[in-house]
Amino acid sequence: MNNFENHRTLILNATYQPLSIASAKRSISLLLSNKINVIKNSNFEIRSESSTITIPKVAALNYYVKAPYARRVALNRENIFIRDKYICQYCGNQAESIDHIIPKSKGGQHEWQNVVACCKKCNLIKADKYLNQTILKLAQAPLKPEGNFWIKTIIGSNPDPEWKEFLISA
Ligand SMILES: [Zn+2]
Repeated sequence: MNNFENHRTLILNATYQPLSIASAKRSISLLLSNKINVIKNSNFEIRSESSTITIPKVAALNYYVKAPYARRVALNRENIFIRDKYICQYCGNQAESIDHIIPKSKGGQHEWQNVVACCKKCNLIKADKYLNQTILKLAQAPLKPEGNFWIKTIIGSNPDPEWKEFLISA
C-alpha cells in the first residue's frame, strides 16, 4: 500500500483547521515552493539525484486561506450516508437507501432536513406515508451539515489514523 499513488497528505490551514487532502505529487510541489510546513512526516521518501524528499502525513499552509467553512456540501446519497454514519435513522441497521421523511409525493422537499439514510426494510414500511402513519421513529432530527463536515466528504469514511488529532473539529 505504500506506493506513491496511494500517499495522501492532510493539508491544514495556517490556523490548523483541516483544509484539504493533497496527493503526493501536490504535496511535493507545495513543499518545493515553501508553501507548507511539515507537522508530521510519513516514512515515505522520494529520492532524486540531489536530494531526498519525505512526503508529509500532515502539513500546514504558511498562509491563511479564508473561509473554507462556508464550503457547501452537496446533497447527494453518499453525503447523506456520511452524515448519518451509514446507519438507518429509523432502526439502526445498515443503511441502503434514502428516505424523504415527508414524501415527495406529499410535497416534501429534497433538502437536508427532510432526508435520512435508511434500510430497505424501513423504506418499505415508510413507503409514501407520513412518519406518524407508520410505526417508525427517527433516531434524531436530520440536520444540515455545518462546520467542518465537508472535510469528511473529501476524506471519506476511512481517514488515516495519524490525521485523527487534526480532525477533531471535523
Ligand atoms: Zn431500518
